[in-house]
Amino acid sequence: MNGLSGPNEGAPPGDDAVVLESDALERAMLSTFDGLVSSAQSAERIVSASMALRAAQIDKLRVWSEAMVAAEGPAAAGSEPHGWTPAVRGRRELVFELACALRIPESTADRLFDESRQLVNVLTETHAALREGEISYRHAQVMVEQTATLPDEAAADYERELLPFAKTLTVAKFVRVARKKREVLHPESITDRRQKGLEERRVWLDPLPDGMTFLGAHLSAEIGVAAHGRLTEIARAQDAPGDDRTLAQKRADALGDLLLDGDTCAAEGDAAGAAGGSGAGSGSGSGSPAGTGHGIRPKVLVTVPMLTLLGKSEQPATLEGYGPIDPHVARQLAADAPSFTRVLTDPVTSAILDFDRTKYAVPADLRLVLRVRDEVCRAPGCNSPAVNCDVDHSVDFAQGGTTCAGNLSHLCRAHHNLKHHTRVRLRNPGDGRIEWTTRAGRTYVTYPANTIGAPPGSAQAGAPPGDWPPPGDWPPPGDWPKTDGTIGPSPF
Ligand SMILES: [Zn+2]
Repeated sequence: MNGLSGPNEGAPPGDDAVVLESDALERAMLSTFDGLVSSAQSAERIVSASMALRAAQIDKLRVWSEAMVAAEGPAAAGSEPHGWTPAVRGRRELVFELACALRIPESTADRLFDESRQLVNVLTETHAALREGEISYRHAQVMVEQTATLPDEAAADYERELLPFAKTLTVAKFVRVARKKREVLHPESITDRRQKGLEERRVWLDPLPDGMTFLGAHLSAEIGVAAHGRLTEIARAQDAPGDDRTLAQKRADALGDLLLDGDTCAAEGDAAGAAGGSGAGSGSGSGSPAGTGHGIRPKVLVTVPMLTLLGKSEQPATLEGYGPIDPHVARQLAADAPSFTRVLTDPVTSAILDFDRTKYAVPADLRLVLRVRDEVCRAPGCNSPAVNCDVDHSVDFAQGGTTCAGNLSHLCRAHHNLKHHTRVRLRNPGDGRIEWTTRAGRTYVTYPANTIGAPPGSAQAGAPPGDWPPPGDWPPPGDWPKTDGTIGPSPF
């Protein structure tokens, strides 16, 4: 090597052609690659445009519904118990209608009406950008959320200033910019807004697959940060040789221990109060046994098939508020967990549903059976746990309805009111199914979570099947869909 030879020196003839050919091939491949990126962008623009169309259609539906309410005229004097004005009733009927039709929770339907109204009537530039595919629906939602508590005139300025960012930033970065600008433009003090925000505080539970759940909390910033800080300190204090749990796992374990037992298994050391020195944990009761609910044991139902309990079957058990759980865990819970009420099911035994039908009050054991049968509120899509629901007589007791399983179902207070104060109708064929009819006349059926009790169509099942097909034509109970999220026109 004399240091003078070029890259192709000494190469056999024809290599230049090969290089040219491979350049051309690479350019062609990149061109196709780029074309496919463009196709993905086009598809995304169509999604955005469809979302803009959905907003327009949903707002039309709202306008039409409100016009129908207006056409009905004012309610007769004294016919509006508990604030059920025609407008309130119309809105509940409307929200229920859309929730059933789109198979979404009513809270989501309610939000869709508000978002659509805002986009079509106030944030018109945002709606246009969505229609043109320049922003995603999530960007539009951020704009709606951030302007929700701004007066309309401030909202217009805010939208004008913020929209260019929506067209160039990811949603997460857009949220940051939006929040900063909102602070500058908002006419209301942060103190007042925090007070409103505090009213939204809550804790919720979402079932996840594979025997897991998500326990979430909506808290004030300082309590949330302090609580997370304390969990981190506890987790760090549990470092021990041989303990190979990650920090995240230890934090989760510490949370469970604190909530269920009021303390953690390991010595906390000076973890209590270690909230990052913010001193903001006051009022949260951190560290005090009384404040952590020491000794409080929730009662949770676990329904175990008899054969599973005996270890002769691996059929899953059901944990109330969650769903199917591992038979091994269920056997442990049934054996030695005082917080759990065990309910055994035997597909052959059904006499338990035979109760005194002459009393209005629902006997405690029938109540328990219904709780196992329903698990949650029986309205389409509603997941309120049965334990927090009312037991409703489908046909009012005063109108001849009896106190038996075939005429009772769990309804959360909101759906109990919906049944009594709107034109949404509920029919209970007596076999565990509940049929709902909306204002538009569409019907949706919800199914019991568990089919314990009398077989459908049998004498014990309560009301006669009426115009339902004979029981022989029904699918086996095991094939019935769960109530949870499964709504739709009757499969019969
Ligand atoms: Zn409900």
